[in-house]
Amino acid sequence: MKQRVDLHTHTSASDGTDSPAELVDNARKAGLAAVAITDHDTLSGLAEASARARECGDIEFVRGVEVSTGTDQGEMHIVGLWVPEDCEPLEKALAAMRAKRGERNERILAKLDTLGIHLTMDDVLREAGGESVGRPHIARALVSAGHVRTITEAFDLYLGSTGKAYLAKDVMDPEEAVSIMAKIGCSVFIAHPMLKPYPPGWIEEFVKRLQPFGLCGIEAWHSEHTEADSRAVIGIARRHHLCVSGGSDYHGRNKPRISLGTGYGSLLVSTDAFGRLKQWREEQGLPC
Ligand code: AMP
Ligand code: ZN
Ligand code: FE
Ligand code: FE
Repeated sequence: MKQRVDLHTHTSASDGTDSPAELVDNARKAGLAAVAITDHDTLSGLAEASARARECGDIEFVRGVEVSTGTDQGEMHIVGLWVPEDCEPLEKALAAMRAKRGERNERILAKLDTLGIHLTMDDVLREAGGESVGRPHIARALVSAGHVRTITEAFDLYLGSTGKAYLAKDVMDPEEAVSIMAKIGCSVFIAHPMLKPYPPGWIEEFVKRLQPFGLCGIEAWHSEHTEADSRAVIGIARRHHLCVSGGSDYHGRNKPRISLGTGYGSLLVSTDAFGRLKQWREEQGLPC
């Protein structure tokens, strides 16, 4: 019996390297019972992946998305699962985010230009496989053109928050992101809540703030979470009657140490946990 699922992954539609169909194939090879694709700010990989999963018939596919939101503690990511096909309000909000990404990318290139680094948008788009384009693709263009040796160096010197060409991203308000997704019937989760050390009690306040807008749960399992992190999140979920989800945050060759399903090796998001999410949706009268 397959025992694991992965509900947080990225494809070449955003900043991963597997095409959506390849990701589904790799998830089957990894023995997953179910996989969700949660690309940043785009749904454009979902149709291809869903078709591949249907064709194969031995893996369940969940349509997802990850959006960046702004808080006093910096960016917090929100994951929506079971995105319906009919999702115009969400698609509209994502298209606006992608347009802002495009403007930001132009401004980053302009900053690089003043530093004597001349990259064109075509150089960047060549590194991108889909419609959600951002700093990882600019980083690859910097490597390809020989300005830096590695992606890490590109972020350290130029694109990271202390880099010379850094620009913050325009992001959504968390309330807006949660309510747009909840209203169309997604299950909405706070992504990787233990990625950074937040002030004591901050995450619980964030949960309380978003529950009235339709927050369903919180990611307990993630490649960057320790076992103690996962236990702490499960505690928060119990106290606030939340569901728990999780996944590897697989990005293919862009994060080569993170594997589908198992993360750095010890990640486990169980089919039981997945079953509980589906049961919760059934209780709400939502389709799975
Ligand atoms: P963006 O959405 O354009 O702001 O880019 C954010 C993405 O850049 C994240 O999802 C990471 O995958 C990647 N990233 C951020 N910092 C680094 C870093 N220091 N090294 C490599 N990748 C990074
Ligand atoms: Zn990413
Ligand atoms: Fe994230
Ligand atoms: Fe992610």
